[in-house]
Amino acid sequence: MDAARESHELALLLAGRCRRCAERVPGGTALRGAPCPRCAAPTARTEEDRLAVATLLAARTRVHLDAAIIVVLGATFATSFFPVAASLVLAAGFLWVGAKVVRPALRLLSPRRRVVSAWTIRLAGGAWFAASALVMEVLTLVPAFGSIGKAAISAAQLAIAGVFARGYLASQARREANGLPVRTGEWVAVAGAGLALVLFLALAFLAVAWVLAKIAGLAAALR
Ligand SMILES: [Zn+2]
Repeated sequence: MDAARESHELALLLAGRCRRCAERVPGGTALRGAPCPRCAAPTARTEEDRLAVATLLAARTRVHLDAAIIVVLGATFATSFFPVAASLVLAAGFLWVGAKVVRPALRLLSPRRRVVSAWTIRLAGGAWFAASALVMEVLTLVPAFGSIGKAAISAAQLAIAGVFARGYLASQARREANGLPVRTGEWVAVAGAGLALVLFLALAFLAVAWVLAKIAGLAAALR
């Protein structure tokens, strides 16, 4: 098989498609080396092939992460005088990483592992983004903190999130390629974190309602 054809077929596998009929194959097909359900063509034949798919995917997402970090660095530097701009730039960076780094990797995972991985990344990424945006907004209030410092911190926050997401997804892809099941602890962690988030939001809502009631009472007393 010539190299161009080989790389074209590999690109199809990385995109979650069959190397022969180019139809979308169910998640986990290539990493587990199962044949295409439509045309029965083999996907990744050997264990070496399966691990190569996982490794190549990691290399490809790395390019997108590096680009996102550089763009966030420049955009934060350029807009650092506007209060909310840094958080918006950071949010765009996180969305980019989600679309170009996380989603392609999730596509190659089997349905159960995809659900656990997607929610782990959503919850961890959401919490990290909230903390990062808070730090950026506080830094905006510190006049001594220059544009370069803000830009560097923002890029570092995105880099940490991206490196975590890539490492985590690479380990999930390796487990998929080795035929290992999703660990019970992973489900427990996702459920626990989800529950904690719901409780936190409920408490925050109650706190806001309580403060508003107090303000209303105060206003009535003053009248
Ligand atoms: Zn096929």
